[in-house]
Amino acid sequence: MGRSYFIHTFGCQMNESDSQRMGEALSRAGWSAAGAAEAADLVLVNTCSIREKAEDKLFSALGRYRLLKSQRGLKIGVAGCVASSQTERLLARAPFVDFVLGPDHLDKVPELADRGGVETDFLDTEQYLFPQADPETSRGRATAFVTAMKGCDNVCSFCVVPYTRGREVSRPYAEVVREIASLVAVGVREVTLIGQNVNSYAGGCTFAELIRRVASVPGLLRIRFTTSHPMDLSPELVRCFHDVPQLMPHFHLPVQHGADTVLQRMRRKYTIGEYQKRIGALPEHVALTSDIICGFPGETDEEHAENIAFLSRTPYDNLFSFLYSPRPHTGAILKLAEWGEVPRETALRRLDEVQKLQQARTLRRHLDRVGSEVEVLVEGGAGFAGDGRSPKGRSSDAHGFGRSRENWTVHFEGDANVGDLIEVRVQSASLVALRGAQTKVLDRAEATAAPRRRLAVVNAPECCG
Ligand code: SAM
Ligand code: SF4
Repeated sequence: MGRSYFIHTFGCQMNESDSQRMGEALSRAGWSAAGAAEAADLVLVNTCSIREKAEDKLFSALGRYRLLKSQRGLKIGVAGCVASSQTERLLARAPFVDFVLGPDHLDKVPELADRGGVETDFLDTEQYLFPQADPETSRGRATAFVTAMKGCDNVCSFCVVPYTRGREVSRPYAEVVREIASLVAVGVREVTLIGQNVNSYAGGCTFAELIRRVASVPGLLRIRFTTSHPMDLSPELVRCFHDVPQLMPHFHLPVQHGADTVLQRMRRKYTIGEYQKRIGALPEHVALTSDIICGFPGETDEEHAENIAFLSRTPYDNLFSFLYSPRPHTGAILKLAEWGEVPRETALRRLDEVQKLQQARTLRRHLDRVGSEVEVLVEGGAGFAGDGRSPKGRSSDAHGFGRSRENWTVHFEGDANVGDLIEVRVQSASLVALRGAQTKVLDRAEATAAPRRRLAVVNAPECCG
């Protein structure tokens, strides 16, 4: 019997994608995927440290795996952001961990699983090689994440990413396009280009040119990307939303706060006026989403009121709003005493206000679509093998689900299969999804009958990514 692994992933799409690459590296080395941690010889926890809560969840998961280790003698590895930024603290708190690896060493996972140890340094830009995706892992899926760049050269004062992911490195465009062509060959129809600051891409062409090159891959129906910085939104990228038909009309462009004084303390490098000018250039049909932080150090009642006023006049399709979480190494934690901590109750009240404002608006937008048709790419359907990726709110009578062009979740009744592009007549809507009936198949996916290779991965999303 060969050895088996199980990966528990915390965090964003970047972590999800890294987990896939680590699973593929283990498969190449002869490991197989286990259905659950209880059945595995190796449990690998891929961590997120964007907020403190994510770290707390990591230590509670490690506690559970420690018990399995004492019962069954399995190995435990820790990868990802906590591994790279807090190795010593991690090993002091969880000395039973067998190995630790940072995001620049994903391909070393089989070697570390055998010999143990710590590999968390960041490689020089010239030395760094992006791990290649194994397209077979995506067989049977309609969508895939494709890494375009990694790291971040900004220093937003709340954010730990530059310390956990290192400097920006872009992947050569030819490699990105080749990977996408190989994914399309196994049936993938939509790709999301990912990177911590994806629109500052510089892998031999601009990000807008990369989108145009990707759009030329035959058979690819949809392109998305995440996450972008407002300062890197170029007129060229805006033009892509006008004239690249495969680019979906959804743009996640985090503003973080609606008051200039807070943006300055956050070191975001733009004012609200500049942000508004940039989003004003986007075509009207583009669904705009954003991230907001409430309770940032020193946030006054007036600044919160400015935030609410900005959010009220900016027609966001959806918002991911977070309570500020002090992070090690960051600029804001060093200034906490000077700027002043916002009392937790106040921060929670402000967060609640932001969420209520957006929830009412998102629900209205969804309800406005009742009675009309939406185009949906089917991600789970009648032919769905099932991999635990069903979105929230799926009911047993819905035959399938997918995403609209704007990235809304749509449940439908109908016989479409994974990868089909269909039209759905919307019959009802909630805050989280639309629901309706399939009316037409717009583009039938060619069967990619062979079952896709299973990766033992559990996901626990922590941020919008
Ligand atoms: N690169 C993106 C940008 O510039 O907007 C952000 C990526 S970050 C991984 C995802 C989101 O997590 C951020 O947009 C921010 O809203 C949130 N976030 C990051 N650090 C945080 C902190 N210390 N406390 C609360 N939320 C935080
Ligand atoms: Fe980089 Fe975004 Fe974090 Fe700012 S918020 S440091 S741009 S990842």
